[in-house]
Amino acid sequence: MVAGYQVNHQLLKRAVEIYNWLDLQVRNNSELAGKCNVCGKCCDFDGPAPGPEQGFGHRLFVTPPELMYLAANLGTENVKAMPTSRCPYNIGGKCTVYKYRFAGCRIFCCRADTDFQSRLSESALKKFKSICTEFRIPYRYSDLATALNRFAG
Ligand code: SF4
Ligand code: SF4
Repeated sequence: MVAGYQVNHQLLKRAVEIYNWLDLQVRNNSELAGKCNVCGKCCDFDGPAPGPEQGFGHRLFVTPPELMYLAANLGTENVKAMPTSRCPYNIGGKCTVYKYRFAGCRIFCCRADTDFQSRLSESALKKFKSICTEFRIPYRYSDLATALNRFAG
């Protein structure tokens, strides 16, 4: 677990605002955002090739405020390590932390317009970076396994 971890309610409020903003962008741009059939395949980050039927070779990067938000809602003791290529919160193909999932999970869709996704990712990243600056948290942009293993280790 991260040493000195403390819940900062203002920080959590800001994270919720970003997630709400992101969800709104996705809802208001449904053509570009793509339709997800919730198969859960993209939660395995070592899939063989891009495509909804085959898995994905993509990566999910997360920032400290996103992990803090997850930990505050699940309880820090329930933050799981990630020993395999599959997100540990994907169980039986379903996301078990859907309400608290990361920005990248909200943005990514295998059927989305890639420019739209990139723009949204950049905007979200800037917002999370500004939270780090405001609350004096060291900024890190880590792939999911590194971030979860560091937090839970
Ligand atoms: S948090 Fe949920 S949506 Fe995101 S990678 Fe994990 S299981 Fe998938
Ligand atoms: S984005 Fe694609 S691969 Fe990921 S859960 Fe949705 S349909 Fe499945």
